Amino acid sequence: MINQIDGLHHITSLASDAQENNGFFTQVLGLRRVKKTVNFDRPEVYHLYYGDEVGTPGSVMTYFPIPDIAKGHAGTGEVGTTVFSIPEGSLAYWQDRLEGLGIENLTQAVRFGETRLGFRGPDGDGFALVEQREDERAPWSGSDIENDFAIRGFHSAALRLKDPDATAELLEFMGYERQESEENHHRFRVAGGNGADIIDISAMPGTEAAEQGAGSVHHIAFSVRDRAAQQNVRGALVDTGYSVTPVIDRDYFWAIYFRSPGGVLFEVSTAEPGFDRDEDKAHLGEALKLPTQHAHLRDTLERDLPPIAD
Ligand code: ZN
Repeated sequence: MINQIDGLHHITSLASDAQENNGFFTQVLGLRRVKKTVNFDRPEVYHLYYGDEVGTPGSVMTYFPIPDIAKGHAGTGEVGTTVFSIPEGSLAYWQDRLEGLGIENLTQAVRFGETRLGFRGPDGDGFALVEQREDERAPWSGSDIENDFAIRGFHSAALRLKDPDATAELLEFMGYERQESEENHHRFRVAGGNGADIIDISAMPGTEAAEQGAGSVHHIAFSVRDRAAQQNVRGALVDTGYSVTPVIDRDYFWAIYFRSPGGVLFEVSTAEPGFDRDEDKAHLGEALKLPTQHAHLRDTLERDLPPIAD
């Protein structure tokens, strides 16, 4: 069994419009853009990272905005809802704020004893906010949202799966403990995690597979402390029969990827070296940063990537 997973690291989704995406995360949700770079595998596409002050693992929502991409179709084999943690007593603030900013179709529901406020992102992305009494994580304090209300980071990610069993077994192998179940929802939690400790699985045997597009989660990344821990995790997964990529340098972390049995792409990423490796902490996310292998494309990319006004 693996005991080096510290919870979520980041969640990466697809968007249709960089400017709209940036506005939603920085101005509506009050996160900090901690990095403006490109998709290392497709440098003509941005990779935007939003999170707390420094992009602490467990707080980082990232996007590939792809102009003209078709909308995704919800279904199984994907992350259905990305859930953020907010302080106890702040749900009414968020209901008012989101309504006031024109976010439609807000829903309140109780799951696992927690009231959640569900809402949709610009491309129909599934999000929710859940109040947490004891979440010691510091929020980004640079937005217009007071600290008493601001998002702390991820609370959980909810996977929609046709058949949950093999993925449940994988999560347990990765160090998650099975907790309560409610209707078709099953909760898993990693002990001693970074705060983004929960994965929920919703079993939806009669639902068709999702079609990925704008508003879909592309992959979900779990956090390990360092490269040594990542090697241990990689070895354990390979020994169990998973086909895992080699370690890939993503400049701000090292990553390995594998497909989980339910169809969701899993990544395991290191907390090192972090988003301040190539930018001053006070100016994170401001300049377009390019990895060495794409540095020669700077002139073209600065000309062709759509501008993002802050
Ligand atoms: Zn990733």
